[in-house]
Amino acid sequence: MAGESMEIAAQIVPSILIGIIGYTSWVITHVVVHRNFFNVDILGGKRVGGGIVILVIYWILFVLVTWSFFRMLWAIFRHPGYIERGHVGRIQAQDEEKAKQTSKKRILPERLSFARPRLGDIISKDIFVCQPDGLPSWCDTCKIWRPDRSRHCREKDRCVLNLDHFCPWVGGIVSEQVMKYFILFNSYTFLYTIFDWILAAICIAQRKQQLPLNGNLIAMLIFGLFFMGLTGGIGLSAIVNALTNHTTKENLAEPAGHTWNMALRVANSLVVDENVHTVSFPDLDDCDFDTLQKLVRSRDRDQSQSSDPDPGQQTPEAQQTSKGPYMPGHTFAIVESDLFSNPWDCGMYENWCQVMGHNIVGWFLPLDVGGSWLSRDAYAHQGSGRPEAGDQKSFFPAGLDIKVMKARAGLTSLTSEEARDYNKRIQKRKAFPYLLGGAGAPLKQWAASRAS
Ligand SMILES: [Zn+2]
Repeated sequence: MAGESMEIAAQIVPSILIGIIGYTSWVITHVVVHRNFFNVDILGGKRVGGGIVILVIYWILFVLVTWSFFRMLWAIFRHPGYIERGHVGRIQAQDEEKAKQTSKKRILPERLSFARPRLGDIISKDIFVCQPDGLPSWCDTCKIWRPDRSRHCREKDRCVLNLDHFCPWVGGIVSEQVMKYFILFNSYTFLYTIFDWILAAICIAQRKQQLPLNGNLIAMLIFGLFFMGLTGGIGLSAIVNALTNHTTKENLAEPAGHTWNMALRVANSLVVDENVHTVSFPDLDDCDFDTLQKLVRSRDRDQSQSSDPDPGQQTPEAQQTSKGPYMPGHTFAIVESDLFSNPWDCGMYENWCQVMGHNIVGWFLPLDVGGSWLSRDAYAHQGSGRPEAGDQKSFFPAGLDIKVMKARAGLTSLTSEEARDYNKRIQKRKAFPYLLGGAGAPLKQWAASRAS
């Protein structure tokens, strides 16, 4: 029910926003500029030059706001980041039931989805996010293996790649392919609102004493305060998240930071310290969670039996297995990160470019330029964001935190400079961005807390 009311809000709110922008345009052009700058009205004198400057700034901001708004709506419609389900979901089942009754079929977005990820898509990576037991993340609702950082969105009843939050203000899911436009829309709307608010405030403050207050200007002040708070808070939190390479949901996972469990591939030739937890996967292209769990558990059992004392009694095959509990190619060290670790943090500039692109002019325009996440192939090979860390396959470019985890498992070594850099990052994350990113927008937080 709550999901349905969110859906309805998502369809109504964008129209209300368009209405408010239309009303604002009328107030600024007619009430403020035409009556007070081009004619002698409330302010009691003509200031044509000032009026023209205001109009030019206003309409530039108007174009940027509406352009980023419609580009964002298009991205939400066309690139929501849905992942194909392994079965018919609850909402789709309801839709099909309704369709049978009303003979009206709702358009379902399967065609807009990324293909269903198979087990092989996950365990062919060198680095992936896993559960504490080392198995990849499985969505029991969608019946799919989840690529890193994807989450199940309750409103849409499906997993979404790099889901940030479901936002009724913009009418849908804000995920990685929408984030750039979302940031631009909020930032430009914030500037647009401040500009309108100041103009309305000046007109009210400087009006001739004998004139009554203009209701439209008062309305501007009230709308202005509300939208300044809303877009300022949401925009700031989205910008901080982009700079720190976080999603809203990751920020909120635990107020005091949270840890990540990562599976890190062990090279065939490498013997890992026995204190490091490792998991070996069968060489399967696909299977479901229960099957994989059984296979992995039965292998663990076999290994503990085959490493019983008295090796003289063992067959050559058993001796072979007991030498190393690893299946060639598919063995991973399972490492838990520190609190406040972020495996995807590639440094502020690189984090920002992943969302906004590498083209500096493109940062300010709602266009797909500069090779941001907007144009990436989500499951394709992603090399490391740090060349010195080696070219590792993962769903997202891996940062320094991954290298630290690998070093802990004995898979690589750290320079003292890297260790220092890592400690500094942890301290910085503890002190500043989590607070700002999390506290910026209560509504967004609430929406994100509904995603599981
Ligand atoms: Zn799901």
